Amino acid sequence: MNKPVDHVLHHIGGRYKEAQSGRFKDVFNPATGAVQKQVALASVEEVDDAVATAQEAFGEWRAASLAVRTKVLFGFRELVHQHRDDIARLLTLEHGKVLSDAHGEVQRGLENIEYACGVAQLMKGELSENVSTRVDSYSIRQPLGVCAGITPFNFPAMVPMWMYPLAIACGNTFVLKPSERDPSVTNFCAELMYKAGLPDGVLNVVHGDKVAVDRLLEHPDVAAVSFVGSTPIAQYVYETGTKHGKRVQALGGAKNHMVVLPDADMDLAADSAVGAGYGSAGERCMAISVLVCVGNAADKLLPKIQDRIAKLKVGNGLEADSEMGPLITKEHRDRVAGFVEAGKGDGATVLVDGRSLKVQGHDDGFFLGPCLIDHVKPSMSVYTEEIFGPVLSVVRTETYDEAMQLIDECPYGNGTAIFTNDGGAARKFQHDVPVGMVGINVPIPVPMSYYSFGGWKQSLFGDLHIYGPDGVRFYTQNKVVISRWPDPRFRGVDLGFPQSK
Ligand code: NAD
Repeated sequence: MNKPVDHVLHHIGGRYKEAQSGRFKDVFNPATGAVQKQVALASVEEVDDAVATAQEAFGEWRAASLAVRTKVLFGFRELVHQHRDDIARLLTLEHGKVLSDAHGEVQRGLENIEYACGVAQLMKGELSENVSTRVDSYSIRQPLGVCAGITPFNFPAMVPMWMYPLAIACGNTFVLKPSERDPSVTNFCAELMYKAGLPDGVLNVVHGDKVAVDRLLEHPDVAAVSFVGSTPIAQYVYETGTKHGKRVQALGGAKNHMVVLPDADMDLAADSAVGAGYGSAGERCMAISVLVCVGNAADKLLPKIQDRIAKLKVGNGLEADSEMGPLITKEHRDRVAGFVEAGKGDGATVLVDGRSLKVQGHDDGFFLGPCLIDHVKPSMSVYTEEIFGPVLSVVRTETYDEAMQLIDECPYGNGTAIFTNDGGAARKFQHDVPVGMVGINVPIPVPMSYYSFGGWKQSLFGDLHIYGPDGVRFYTQNKVVISRWPDPRFRGVDLGFPQSK
């Protein structure tokens, strides 16, 4: 008899709830192609249950002292650290990324939890004594209420950790709707939050699809929504959420350019392009997908990149020597491969074609080898579309200005990088480029947890970036108090507009 498939259930009010909707979706192991679990897809009623639970918990949690909240966050940090191997393994099993990369994801998530541990410092307001005679004024930051997070498949541990630790540290309660493609790690981490002493109902996980997302966007008791995912859905979430009166930050897709000037250190540029282009099989919003080679840079750089690609080990992420794993689903792998064919049809030169790759013993895995495409033009779909796979396009330009024009005209503005040894050129690039996160000889400039993360243009809808100082601003609202204590010298009716005296 076949073993029954495990179900990934909603985690509401600190415990698992039997799925009510009767709707489930397969969760694959991308390295083998096998279905390993089924995730419950929430109904409107199940989302309502999670929001009501979070709303009920809010009253006490907002009143919990900073000391109590901080203690939970420190406990959570310790548990995530203790269980980092388990979390990394879960990531590899459902996402496919190799274990070393999964460990990197856990580490960056931990840094966000550590930042949230400092909430006592972060929530400090300001006070001015004697704004008028014997009158003081001060500002305090208060939580919003129930906050929701909707997250993508590509960082199933870290991206939620950009959201709920800080939101909860600020005194909010939280409903998280993770990606339905790799959902298990979210439940594992929610369990750790409760082990760390979180009161029931402060963090709730509902799994699901558009039904769950739409309900969260419309629910009157959801105060704020943080979204990370593709641009069309980010725009939809922003427009629908704000229409329903919510504070929304919605981070979208990307097409990140790495400009290589002829004077660059070509070995560093080659190492960086390969790492940032093919790491996590290109399924990173900060992946480099376009190499813009200025002048004769391509002739020096491309042979070095080809050498490095030839040595890359693609395989099951659980195997210690694998450097690149499979893509998330078969459909996505086929879509990415389709862009390579389209590029070829449009006249680009496919220098390395990963479509023929076979991974021994993994015939049904969703693998695609690294692809390198030269002589790409801005009109080709391989250039215009976010591919989200191991495909690196090379555009050759004569000048720096042409390179800058490409980035200027790109609808996305998430990350970018310049490789050069010319400080003046780097300084000019940093000043001019219309992109939210910039690397100088650094290919993936993901900000530390004590800065904030966010792109420009269609890579982010909303005002505030995510996590870090902007995260505190997003998850709190400012209140200003003006206070005086009665003094017999200052009495009498005054209908004039209040003025400082
Ligand atoms: P996605 O947009 O398909 O899904 C993101 C979330 O939205 C998931 O929880 C999903 O269930 C939900 N969703 C999907 N379709 C929906 C619909 N029609 N209506 C309502 N909700 C819907 O993204 P993905 O494929 O999971 O992730 C990859 C994308 O995320 C890429 O575009 C990548 O660039 C982007 N991303 C961006 C950042 C960033 O910080 N800017 C970070 C990671 C990933």
